[in-house]
Amino acid sequence: MSLKITTKLVEESNISSFDPENIVFGRVFTDHMFSCDFRNNEWQDFRIEPFGKIHLSPTLSALHYGQAIFEGMKAVKNTDGVITLFRPIENLKRLNHSAERMCMPELPEEIFMQALEKLLLIDKDWIPTKRGSSLYIRPFMFATDDFLGVKPSENYCFMIYGCPVNSYYSHPLKVRIEEKYTRASKGGVGAAKCAGNYAASMYPTKLAQQQGFDQVLWTDGEHHQYLEETGTSNVFVITEDAVYTPQLNDSLLAGITRDSIIQLLRSKGKNVIEKLVSVTELIQWQEKGELKEMFVTGTAATVTNIEMFSYLDKKYEVNAHENLLSTEIINELNDLKTLITPDKFDWITILQEPKMVTQ
Ligand code: PMP
Repeated sequence: MSLKITTKLVEESNISSFDPENIVFGRVFTDHMFSCDFRNNEWQDFRIEPFGKIHLSPTLSALHYGQAIFEGMKAVKNTDGVITLFRPIENLKRLNHSAERMCMPELPEEIFMQALEKLLLIDKDWIPTKRGSSLYIRPFMFATDDFLGVKPSENYCFMIYGCPVNSYYSHPLKVRIEEKYTRASKGGVGAAKCAGNYAASMYPTKLAQQQGFDQVLWTDGEHHQYLEETGTSNVFVITEDAVYTPQLNDSLLAGITRDSIIQLLRSKGKNVIEKLVSVTELIQWQEKGELKEMFVTGTAATVTNIEMFSYLDKKYEVNAHENLLSTEIINELNDLKTLITPDKFDWITILQEPKMVTQ
């Protein structure tokens, strides 16, 4: 099905405000945004307009009861000007998984993909070509009922906007393994990419940052004994014998980068084990000298090493500088995304002229 997307373009592009040599994450947005509305049980009113403020009622239910979900993905442009997306359907699947958990409507694939492709082609000049930089894309959905009362909204808005970025972190991380606070617990909404999870992580993260850490490394809500993830990324631990990553459950986000790295490493013959990873065994590995490397993975974070973790006020150093598996992975992922190496996993969507009717 070809989607009818009403398009109103900017009179003058804002692209001169963007310096590709000096990108600050999340500060500069492209010229246009996509929106559509869910009303009377169907998605409608597909439109691309100049990026700008949206007019909302103070009673908007997303603001009060938190039905708000989002995704994070990236478009990359190689030196030949070819634009690629990395596993976009996985983002859609996760958006729809989040939607189900939050009682929100499913978004069909044709809306997601056609909106994305058309918006990206219109704003393609904003996609940086420097290796490691990209256009971060933020699809999101929120409840728009003007109604006071706790119940699933009947109306929703889905939008997409983008901003040129480099990696979220510019240096290896110092993380504090959480002993007291909980980001998400069993049976909760941790596996949904919903706005409230990020609000829940802010206070403990603020405390950790006041103590000189970059991030909290969350542990399970019951015992604070098993590693989960950071506020924005999944975690990998590398020992002499294997690569470990916490197994998925309903309190952590199933990262698309996490899954890709597991597949990539297994294809290279590495022993990747998804299991409960306890803080006790992590400390034992570190103390016996068996801990080789630790890194976090995510669309925004890409692959970022952990150089130190702390637990119960004790600090543990981790190699973040020599013979890093993370460097190998970043390079392989970048080569795949920029079509330098063949797409043997079938992960890459090359952006083509969309088959759409424009009004
Ligand atoms: N965990 C959390 C809490 C996140 O916000 C993210 C970023 N989406 C991730 C993990 C990594 O997910 P992905 O690799 O799909 O970006």
